[in-house]
Amino acid sequence: MTAPVPVPVSVRPHSTRGGERRAPPTDGPLVDRYGRVHTDLRISVTDRCNLRCVYCMPEKGMSFLPRPALLSFDEITRVAQIARDLGVTSVRITGGEPLVRKGLPALIGRLAALGFEDVALTTNGMALAQWAGPLAGAGLRRVNVSCDSLRPQRFASLRRRGDLGAVMAGMAAAEAAGLTPLKVNVVLLRGVNDDEVLDFASWARTTGRIVRFIEFMPLDAQGQWHRHRLVPGREVLERISSKWPLVPAALDAAPADQYRFADGAGGIGVISSVTQPFCGTCDRLRLTADGALRNCLFTNDEHHLRDLLRGGGGDADIALLLRAAVWDKYPGHGVNEPGFLSPARSMSMIGG
Ligand code: SAM
Repeated sequence: MTAPVPVPVSVRPHSTRGGERRAPPTDGPLVDRYGRVHTDLRISVTDRCNLRCVYCMPEKGMSFLPRPALLSFDEITRVAQIARDLGVTSVRITGGEPLVRKGLPALIGRLAALGFEDVALTTNGMALAQWAGPLAGAGLRRVNVSCDSLRPQRFASLRRRGDLGAVMAGMAAAEAAGLTPLKVNVVLLRGVNDDEVLDFASWARTTGRIVRFIEFMPLDAQGQWHRHRLVPGREVLERISSKWPLVPAALDAAPADQYRFADGAGGIGVISSVTQPFCGTCDRLRLTADGALRNCLFTNDEHHLRDLLRGGGGDADIALLLRAAVWDKYPGHGVNEPGFLSPARSMSMIGG
């Protein structure tokens, strides 16, 4: 296996031909000024979470959106339908923790009825044992479960309020409900859980689950990110492939670099957002729980949809804002540029 070569990505907008600032197109797919077509909408349904993972939120003192600020299921469904008409083919529900939002299967059912190719969910898995069946029954196709340690005590200290047993039961329930192959997100922190890389790889081989190692990103609410705390995806791949050879595979949707074991089941992905940015192929647009459109996790620019939704905006106005939000995307996220500052909203407030 050869490691991919990192590609430096600049955040500076390139000048347009002739220097003029063209407006977004009024028809065709959702495209930015660099030609990236957007087909993936991430929808956050809440900024609240029942856990306090050390790389995401402080243990105490987090403040949350008031209930009326959240988009209703009617509002979310309307935006999703307009996005579908603009070429979005997949939606992923996230948060905060999406399963703390009441009645989630009803929303999944409404999104599935819109005919998306893919309706997926990212969850911490704490309540998945209870909800996997109803969610799958409503039309959910795929689930990603976050789990940063296979050791109960370490799991509890990393996730602060988490219980590994409940998450494992959630994974089993998801598989029993047909939400396979199950993907498991692992955020690696140097000196904290990076000694479990081979344990996770071995677990992927025996369970058939796809483990995706995520680099720690400067999106924690505490502002304690530092480059030396992340574990580069390339290092993870080297460690695993020195024990079990890997071959590149299309196991999972971008942005994970994906591999399967040369001799067995299960798979591995690395999401090297910091050390090997994949902005050049980014096709994602995000809708926050309070109705802001974000074209990048790391941006500070938001297009506010909620006011339009609640102020009598027509479908054409909403489509125009979706187009503008995509059009304004920068070529790269800028994390490796001098002067980068973390965005004002952290991961749980944006929707990871
Ligand atoms: N609560 C759900 C969960 O735990 O999967 C969904 C939201 S959570 C914000 C989405 C993903 O972002 C999780 O896999 C989580 O581990 C990851 N995450 C949170 N903060 C992060 C950070 N600072 N760097 C990298 N990944 C992070």
